[in-house]
This record gives sequence, structure tokens and C-alpha cells, in this order.
Amino acid sequence: MPKEVKKQIIVTGIRPTGDLHIGNYLGAVKPLLQTIEKYPDAEIYIFVADLHGLTDNEAATVAKFRFEVVKDYLALGLDKYINTGRVHLFIQSQIGELVSYLSLFLSRYTTFNDLMRVPTLKEKLRANQTEGQANALLGYYPILMASDILIHNATIGPIGQDQLPHLEKTREFGAKFNAEFGEVFTLPQAHSVENLRILSLKGVGKMSKSHPEGALFLSDSEKLVKQKVSRAETATEGTISPNLESLLTIAKEFNVNTAEFLTDHMAGKQVAGLFKKELCERLADFVVNFQKKRATIADAEVMKIIIDGGRAARINATKTLDIVKNVMKFNYIK
Ligand code: ATP
Ligand code: MG
Repeated sequence: MPKEVKKQIIVTGIRPTGDLHIGNYLGAVKPLLQTIEKYPDAEIYIFVADLHGLTDNEAATVAKFRFEVVKDYLALGLDKYINTGRVHLFIQSQIGELVSYLSLFLSRYTTFNDLMRVPTLKEKLRANQTEGQANALLGYYPILMASDILIHNATIGPIGQDQLPHLEKTREFGAKFNAEFGEVFTLPQAHSVENLRILSLKGVGKMSKSHPEGALFLSDSEKLVKQKVSRAETATEGTISPNLESLLTIAKEFNVNTAEFLTDHMAGKQVAGLFKKELCERLADFVVNFQKKRATIADAEVMKIIIDGGRAARINATKTLDIVKNVMKFNYIK
């Protein structure tokens, strides 16, 4: 008898900490759309991670952006799949008590050392805060993320490169729990586009919502897009730099021919201006079309999508949490 093919369950999220930028689109949303196409029978849970947003943002800011991010997702192409019934778009806090509950159970099987070993935690502590200033959510982040993913029994987690260590932690936490209680959780595979890490247009580090000065936002005007791209850091003629490489990655994704530019540039010719001009045109076209489509999506429609998505997510999450409580022999007294 053929082995039963397991249904794919795709789970992914974005924090509502600002408008989406081109790095979010290329590193997370576009690959997600490709994954949805690749697995026509998959069930897909996409959430706006407002609880994660609280780590380093005011609650009111997060609340303001969560609705906007749903609209962004829809305008970037998710709208096409909503009526298939297999895409569930929701806000994380709609099932907040369920993911928090599971995260508490997972914490029971996680040590302080496990958390301290997360590379992004070390980076963030180095870059922005000391251990005395950072709130505990920063350390808790990987457990909550694991809970978001494991609660839906995800088989695939499409994420950007910077989230790979967190996905690895999710697998680790799930495996630890399974070792204790049997095969409760599915361990998700990361889906990430190799080397697709878009850098800030200025200075070091990746492009981030929380560092708006170097980000190219999908909400930027045509004029601003052109201005930002033309002022983006590149490299002196005849040399290559991480910033230039990142611009080339963006260019390739938008079908700008980079081969000729690169040959001339490496030969010492001053061709960056021409290259940037073409990149500006493509990116400006992209954001203009995105914004036009986004403007046609009604708030009431978005609300309906979120309510339906939240309901589906709740049904699925409740099933998992019930199994977890059963195996732990920790059912509620009702
Ligand atoms: P914040 O600064 O608030 O953390 P962010 O820009 O890092 O915002 P997230 O919401 O943390 O965005 O991440 C959403 C998704 O986008 C994740 O899958 C993440 O890996 C991906 N992503 C974020 N920034 C980039 C980038 N510069 N290049 C490629 N992918 C990215
Ligand atoms: Mg981030």
C-alpha cells in the first residue's frame, strides 16, 4: 500500500511594526505566494503577529498597523486565494489565549540556557539594549513563535533568512516535547530563499520596518522610491560591497538585467547611475500598481476575512491544545 501522503500545512507571520518594505515582500511574501502555488492542496495559516510586535513597540502602534498589514498581504496577491477556503488570514491575538497557553507549556520544557543561545537574542542585546533594559518578551520570543507554528501542526514555515534560527528553535522545542509525550507535534521544515537578505539602503544591517531610514516601503510615493534608490549605497567602480550585492538581488527579482552592468562596473566604468535609473523605474511601477490595488480593498472586506480566518485558526489551535493537555494529563477542571 502506498504510504499516506501527509497534507501540507503552511504557517507564517509578519509583525505589525510598520509598513511592509521590499525586503518583507521579497524575503517573505513572494516566496509564500510561490509556496502556495507549489502545494495546491495545502492548508495555509497566515497571521499578523501583533503579540510579537509588543516586544519592542507600544501596543497602540501595533494595533494601528495590524489591519494595514492584512491589507498589504491581500494587495500583494493573497486576495486570489482567500475564496479557495484554504487560506486563513488572521491576527495572532484573535487566538492569543491559545498560543499563550501552549507557550507556557512549552516553557516548561525549555531551559534559560536554551533561550540564551538564540543568536538573534544576542544580536539584539548587543545592538539595542542591555539585559537590564530589554523586556522579558525578547527572551520569550522564540517560545511564542514556536507556539504559533506548532499549534497549527505546520509542515512548512516560509520565512526570511533572519528567522531561520527561530524556526530551528521551534523544531527543537517541538522535538523535546515529543520526546517526553510521543509524536504530538509535527516538526516544520523551514522554507527560505537562499541568500535573500535585503540590506538597508544606508549603512549596515538588514532592511527592517523598525529602521525606517534605510527601508524602501511599499507605501512610499513614486518620487520617494526613486529618491531612495538613487541615493542608495553601492560600491566604488571595480569593487563589490554587500550593499551593492543586495541592490543586485533586488534588481534580479524585478527582472532588471544586471550582467552587463556588473561587467562594466567591475571594469571600472561609471555605470551605477544607469543601473539605478532602470531599477528606480521597475520599483516605482511595482509600488504604484501595489498601491492602486490596495486602494480598492474595502475595510469591511478585510474585517470579514480576518473574522473567518480567526475562526478557522481557533478550531485548529483548540484541537492541538486539547491533545497537548491530554498527553500531559492536565485537562481543565470545568
Ligand atoms: P521589525 O524590524 O519590526 O522586526 P522586519 O522588517 O524585520 O520588522 P518582520 O515582521 O520581523 O519584519 O519579518 C517578517 C518576514 O519578513 C520574516 O519572514 C522575515 O524573515 C522577513 N524579512 C524581514 N526583513 C527582511 C529582509 N531585509 N530581507 C529578507 N527578508 C526579510
Ligand atoms: Mg524582524
